[in-house]
Amino acid sequence: MDEPLRIGVLAVQGNFREHVNVLRRLGVEASEVRKPHQLDGLDGLIIPGGESTAIGKLVRAYELEQAILGFEGAIFGTCAGMILLARDAVDGLPGQPLLGLIDIGVRRNAYGRQVHSFETDLELAGESRPLRAVFIRAPWIERVGAGVEVLAKHDHRPVLAREGRILVAAFHPELTDDTRVHELFCEVVREAASVRS
Ligand code: GLN
Repeated sequence: MDEPLRIGVLAVQGNFREHVNVLRRLGVEASEVRKPHQLDGLDGLIIPGGESTAIGKLVRAYELEQAILGFEGAIFGTCAGMILLARDAVDGLPGQPLLGLIDIGVRRNAYGRQVHSFETDLELAGESRPLRAVFIRAPWIERVGAGVEVLAKHDHRPVLAREGRILVAAFHPELTDDTRVHELFCEVVREAASVRS
């Protein structure tokens, strides 16, 4: 049998426990990451939703920024995690750290103050069954670089996208029972590992 995948979840702020629970349901060896050395030996990393400015500052304070930039496994950012992984952000706070690991431009709190949160069905590339998606003060993707593949859209805007080993979602797949987005991330993790070995 294949070895279980080892995936860490950045656990400085936000929805990390929910991601750990989904990963364990999928048979992944999941762990919480708060220190740079906890990335050692991992095949993948999830940066959860929460508050991107807070997560960005804590990532710096815990000296995780360089460690994440040097991490060679696959990375999945949801909501605030997507903002952190983006190359640029509109409406980001001054000095907000961005890792720039995926060539997209995002807009923070794009759905406005009134509609902080909503749920909707998304069409997933290559799937006939819709995906229920929860958006909470979500960003959207305004600019997509040439190497970025769009996997789902809402209202003509990309909300699930991939560039190589980096996957991002504007919504919260850890808050529904549908595990397909995490399963997709596991495939990205396996592919990235096979490229490295
Ligand atoms: N609006 C938040 C931010 O800018 C993200 C919200 C979320 O992750 N649910 O960080």
